[in-house]
Amino acid sequence: MSTRAPETLPNRLAWAARAACQGQDLALFFSDAEQKVAQAKQICAACPVRRECLDEALRAEGASIGDGVFGGLTADERTELALARATEQAAAQGQAPPQPRTGRRPAPCGTRSAYQRHVKKGEPIDDACRAANTAADRRLRTTGSTRPRR
Ligand code: SF4
Ligand SMILES: [Zn+2]
Repeated sequence: MSTRAPETLPNRLAWAARAACQGQDLALFFSDAEQKVAQAKQICAACPVRRECLDEALRAEGASIGDGVFGGLTADERTELALARATEQAAAQGQAPPQPRTGRRPAPCGTRSAYQRHVKKGEPIDDACRAANTAADRRLRTTGSTRPRR
């Protein structure tokens, strides 16, 4: 059992007693592994309180979407949904659409960050990321910083 049980979300709420994830391995819900995420989503798909869970997650997270699968959606998917809802709301009120949050976007391939993400997730490493990492290593040895010179 994971030590990162989502006690901040479904567990403290009345409907949580009916949550399909009660008694499940909550590590599934906080994994980066695609297969585990898929398993978690499958549990959510059959959950009788999926809507309550998703709404509570979005409400509780507000502008800063956390991690983990809630209500059948990953953090990235909730980020998108939250933006879509906010856009809809703004349009209904005749306001300008909100700006998408860009902070969570993963670094694109061809960067050291993406290389490090591949390593962390055990993903195959593409040439662009390998080259970026090698270049950053070389900079580190010669300048003491991984930052490209301007
Ligand atoms: S929707 Fe998923 S995370 Fe939410 S209570 Fe149900 S099984 Fe748990
Ligand atoms: Zn890459």
